[in-house]
Amino acid sequence: MDYKRIVVKVSGERFAGDQHEKVFDVHAIEDIAGEIKALVDMGIQVGVVIGGGNIVRGKEAAAAGIIAAQAHQMGMLAIVINALALQSVLEGQGVQTRVMSALTIDTVAEPYIRRRAMRHMEKGRVVLFAAGIGNPFFSSDTAGALRAIEIGAEIYVKATKVDGIYTADPVKDPNAKHLADISYKDVLVDDLKVMDGAAISLCRENHMPLMVCKVGDVVKALKGEAKCTIVHE
Ligand code: UDP
Repeated sequence: MDYKRIVVKVSGERFAGDQHEKVFDVHAIEDIAGEIKALVDMGIQVGVVIGGGNIVRGKEAAAAGIIAAQAHQMGMLAIVINALALQSVLEGQGVQTRVMSALTIDTVAEPYIRRRAMRHMEKGRVVLFAAGIGNPFFSSDTAGALRAIEIGAEIYVKATKVDGIYTADPVKDPNAKHLADISYKDVLVDDLKVMDGAAISLCRENHMPLMVCKVGDVVKALKGEAKCTIVHE
């Protein structure tokens, strides 16, 4: 495992922990932070892309009657909230961080500037990429793919609640089979619900390897010691 720079995507759902009773479960955020710290301690430059699904998902808010573009802007602001929570917990664990937002929100976070983000990472600071790509109708998965490509990460890691990609939803289908690796094309053609098509297409066009693993397994999966799925050419 000789990664120098990686981008890890953590969905907002993970911030709520397993109970889903509240928006934030600080213990769940501490677990996420601990995993990021472990990567930093191994000398890896880490960028983190955060979701906002524990607070607002654009599609859901739009379905409830909010103007769609604004519903997505609310989602992006939700991501900023999560980024501030994770920053707080990471700094409590002694990890230096910067929140860089794709939406201009100067008094709260730095604006996202690619070269500055890379400089922070070179200095050992974890960059928390907030507010997605700053445009409505996109997902934080796509934002993660974009940032990973832009800043020259060697791999894009989606840390989620399942240990990789299955042929069907493993919760609903007992015959679902785990896939150790799969091509971008097959993910798209088989419509496997791992990420939206925009995110997969971006990775595919830019040869960005994608690893899908369970939150808590990132370090082990990068070492090849935990179950995960690698999506590649
Ligand atoms: N979002 C957006 N543009 C982006 C990233 C996110 O409009 O570049 C909005 C979108 O409405 C999305 C919400 O922010 O539903 C929260 O992000 P996401 O659903 O990807 O979070 P996750 O499911 O990973 O927690």
